[in-house]
Amino acid sequence: MKLSLVVPCYNEEGNVKLFAETIEKTFKNKIKNYEIIFINDGSQDNTMKELRELLKESKQNIKVINFSRNFGKEAGMYAGLKETKGDYVSIIDADLQQNPEYVLKMVEILDENEEYDSVVAYQERRKESKILSFFKNTFYKIINKMSDTEFVMGASDFRTFRRSMVDAVLQMQEYYRFSKGIFSWVGFNNCYMTYDVEARNQGQSKWSFYKLFKYAVDGIVSFTTVPLRLATIVGILVSLLSLVYLIFVIAEKLFFGIDTEGYATIVTLILLLGGIQLLCIGIIGEYLARTYVETKNRPIYITKEILTNEKDKKDDK
Ligand code: UDP
Ligand code: MG
Repeated sequence: MKLSLVVPCYNEEGNVKLFAETIEKTFKNKIKNYEIIFINDGSQDNTMKELRELLKESKQNIKVINFSRNFGKEAGMYAGLKETKGDYVSIIDADLQQNPEYVLKMVEILDENEEYDSVVAYQERRKESKILSFFKNTFYKIINKMSDTEFVMGASDFRTFRRSMVDAVLQMQEYYRFSKGIFSWVGFNNCYMTYDVEARNQGQSKWSFYKLFKYAVDGIVSFTTVPLRLATIVGILVSLLSLVYLIFVIAEKLFFGIDTEGYATIVTLILLLGGIQLLCIGIIGEYLARTYVETKNRPIYITKEILTNEKDKKDDK
């Protein structure tokens, strides 16, 4: 098998068939031996029905992993990667925002350059609001300062890997999967390719600001423990400052007989310190909660069924 496509789908009823068709057209006479692995990530619409029909109708090699509920795109990608058999593996969205022509380009790059283990599509010009861009920029600045793992701004999950890199990614079996970090953590040699995102064919993007924020916190907590050290540093600084102030107040009383007044100062300080303490406990809590979940060792996803039409098409191999 030359190429496996991993396609996570959540409420993509209007896209899956068109996606398969587009792949067929694009790959015609270019890539013969390929498989498409759809992951139905607990869709609430007719995605699964469409996929069942597609399995019956299509002449392509198709496999469908049907999750028992929504586990998120990260879990979907992991499940998909596990099922792949291709020498090359591409992760691509079902909504046709990522033109399959780019997959051909990626394959060509890997064919021609043995030194690359993966090709990563990244957006130079991003079609999003300035505020969102600002938050994303800030996130990348912070995480790159804190973490040893490199995070490339604009790099997407739209990638093509060689088998060896897929196997490495599959060795990372953590529950909180921040793929951008995982792909970077495993090392290997990545080639970056710019691409333009198309408009979504049908349906809505599943990313809300809150989801992005949670994802950002996952990224930071998964790939650096610097926030914990920051809490220690803030603690030391505050303690030192209060010690200096204490000496100052005692000296004022002893040498000048001044009673320090200040209801407002005390209230402000209590609130400030309370805030800092809660923040630090919160930071510890974030790490503790993840440790707790990881030690439970629950599966990353639950599969209800795996459907395939491969048996009917032995002659394709
Ligand atoms: N997706 C998924 N599970 C989810 C959310 C999204 O499998 O819980 C899939 C979705 O069907 C699509 C891809 O992940 O194929 C990217 O999602 P989306 O288009 O919403 O993200 P965007 O393109 O806006 O970044
Ligand atoms: Mg999309």
